[in-house]
Amino acid sequence: MSAGSTSMHAGNAERVELEPPDITAYRAGNTGIPYVTSFGSGRPGPHAAIVALTHGNEISGALALDHLLRNDLRPVIGTLSLVFANVDAYAEFDPHNPNASRYINHDMNRLWAENADDAVDRKSIEGRRVQALRPFLETVDLLLDLHSMQSESPALLLAGPSDKGRDFSRSLSSPAVIVCDSGHANGTRLRDFHAFNTPEKPQKSVLAECGQHWKPGTATMAIDTAYRFLLTLGMTTASEAANNLLPDNMPAHWVEVTGSFVPHHDGVQFVEPFVGMEVIAGRDTVIAHDGVDPIRTPYDDCVLIMPSRRLVAGQTAVRFGRRHLFEEHADV
Ligand SMILES: [Zn+2]
Repeated sequence: MSAGSTSMHAGNAERVELEPPDITAYRAGNTGIPYVTSFGSGRPGPHAAIVALTHGNEISGALALDHLLRNDLRPVIGTLSLVFANVDAYAEFDPHNPNASRYINHDMNRLWAENADDAVDRKSIEGRRVQALRPFLETVDLLLDLHSMQSESPALLLAGPSDKGRDFSRSLSSPAVIVCDSGHANGTRLRDFHAFNTPEKPQKSVLAECGQHWKPGTATMAIDTAYRFLLTLGMTTASEAANNLLPDNMPAHWVEVTGSFVPHHDGVQFVEPFVGMEVIAGRDTVIAHDGVDPIRTPYDDCVLIMPSRRLVAGQTAVRFGRRHLFEEHADV
């Protein structure tokens, strides 16, 4: 881990403009698992869960759950669970070094494989928390995992690799751009856990990247996404959601992640300060230099997704995406 180098980059460009909420009132919950609260409607319906703080420094998700809890939101059908995930990392959040509390021992969003390493589970703070949450989250039919990003990229919905994920993300009618990808080679994300990526299973999930970690608009987007999720599932009413929704403005395209640029050298620089979702018109356009090697876009109209602000050899610097128009369905 490179905590030293991350803190060096946490200058004015990463000023924390959001107030991290005090979530200690939610510690007890009502499920037997700390910081997990479930509300039953008494009526049939799915088990939906909204998760915040999978990364301890992504406070917009915590603000969204705090908003739902303060407003006593209750599901109209089914069961709604609200989960604060990496609460130990969040407890260490320091606005003067806000990158340091992403996690304590392990990135919690890489630990969800069913055959996860027991040693990691037992020995690390995040492993133990995942172990406690896993059986509970296996009962969830529909999952929203709220995140945020390093750069000031437009908001994204990471829909996973299957059609059901893309269709579910689209059903939210969100202004965020839907990005279809297959996760990370170095561990399983929560959104890819259990049955969420199995095409023949009904469970669905979406990971929302709501904007830059500490900008006020990111909390607004996290709240919007939470209400859209509940509205799509019939768990809240249009009138309850109305004041919490941004204009729909659904993008015409979705984006398929086709690959990434992983530098071989430290100190790589992009040729421009990309923030994400730039569309580079020409194939073979140089976007960065890795040592002496120019890094070029692989095709025309290539989308740059979530460029990292901490460029380190061996870690993904940016993902490449191909744009697709949503198909016109004959029956629409
Ligand atoms: Zn995150």
